[in-house]
Amino acid sequence: MISDIYTSFCSTILFPLHEALKKHTTVKVRQDMEHSQWLAPEQIRQLQLTRLKAFLIDVDRHVPYYRQLFASRGFDPQELSDLRQLAELPLLDKATIRANSEALKADDANGLSRFNTGGSSGEPLIFFIGNKRVSHDVAAKWRATRWWDVDIGDPEAVIWGSPIELGSQDKIRLLRDKFFRTHLMPAFEMSAEKLDGFIGDIQRIRPKMLFGYPSALAHIAEHAEKNGVVLSELGIKVAFVTSERLYEHQRAKIQGVFGCPVANGYGGRDAGFIAHQCPRGGMHITAEDIIVEIVDNDGKVLPVGELGEIVVTHLATRDFPFIRYRTGDMGILSAETCDCGRGLPLLAEVQGRTTDFVVAQDGTVLHGLALIYVLRDLDGVDAFKITQESLDKTSVQIVRTSAYQQASAEEKIIAVFKARLGQAVNINIEYPEFIAKEKSGKFRYVISHVKQ
Ligand SMILES: [Zn+2]
Repeated sequence: MISDIYTSFCSTILFPLHEALKKHTTVKVRQDMEHSQWLAPEQIRQLQLTRLKAFLIDVDRHVPYYRQLFASRGFDPQELSDLRQLAELPLLDKATIRANSEALKADDANGLSRFNTGGSSGEPLIFFIGNKRVSHDVAAKWRATRWWDVDIGDPEAVIWGSPIELGSQDKIRLLRDKFFRTHLMPAFEMSAEKLDGFIGDIQRIRPKMLFGYPSALAHIAEHAEKNGVVLSELGIKVAFVTSERLYEHQRAKIQGVFGCPVANGYGGRDAGFIAHQCPRGGMHITAEDIIVEIVDNDGKVLPVGELGEIVVTHLATRDFPFIRYRTGDMGILSAETCDCGRGLPLLAEVQGRTTDFVVAQDGTVLHGLALIYVLRDLDGVDAFKITQESLDKTSVQIVRTSAYQQASAEEKIIAVFKARLGQAVNINIEYPEFIAKEKSGKFRYVISHVKQ
């Protein structure tokens, strides 16, 4: 088929050229990863140890923050002989990154770009990503995509994004997306009209793959089902979901309506491409690049099989290191191996963040992102939580720092919230010292008490 020839052209010529022009080594990294995924678990641990040692030696030479930290603790990366020695280093949290963002940059850093994210815990974070890391993260995603018999260049519908992400960063991306047949649909507004629009687009594009938040894909699926629209015969091969916890009822709904399996991915811009599901169901860790530890409340490493916070060391981050970075997500490492034969270790469970939908006064259902993005982008916001108390009242709690400009910030928040929720809505802004976690230990940053 012509379509397959185009996909192969994208995957073997166009995308490699695109990456080479950006000075990325993505193609080579992916090829290596396609080999190493089949190594035995013990060989993969050996590979991790070799890479961890080289990474820490490099960081010791070039990153002022860690050079000083290693020296003050008498930690010599040359003497590393066991992966467990990683636990001798302190955990890295968002506050530490915020306070040391200059000293965390390598003195010979290559291609650093600034990123801003809510991370996985709802605490805003500004950090940097170098060229090497981009290559590795893209390669890991590419490898996992190919597990599902689809490839870069296959038509893809991406249901994603906040207005900011779509607006400022990505004019070039729009052109690139056109080449690679990626169709971007902004997902934060879920009115019946928008949902009909998404469904129409999907019918027209006939994508081989879908990509989006599980909540958003499940919502579209439900709308199609309610209106008797059949989407299961479009030839969609897989629905990739990420960024939120995937619930079983969402998986069932997406699978049923789109007629394809759901592949769950776990990671973020901050922590990297941590794990991805294979067609046999295993949630494989990108172990060549990422060492996952599970820790308890006191930061002590827990044995395999126990639930705790997911902490990652990303071995391709020498330009701006993430070493024992606290994701704020809860998870369990598995002792099992996967039937697919890949030696990559498995996460038994991930309990990522959850995002509630909110409802505007006119009844429009909105993804939580429609409100989150304005808070993420303000200076001086350490943490936040949005609670929709009723159709007429929404509260925002903000833990602020000295960089917070109260008058202009409140003006922005109120303007965006009223534009989304309705002009008559009362917006109540509070400034607590800290924001308590849910009973589950999980931070939820948008909660709605309005029945949808
Ligand atoms: Zn597998």
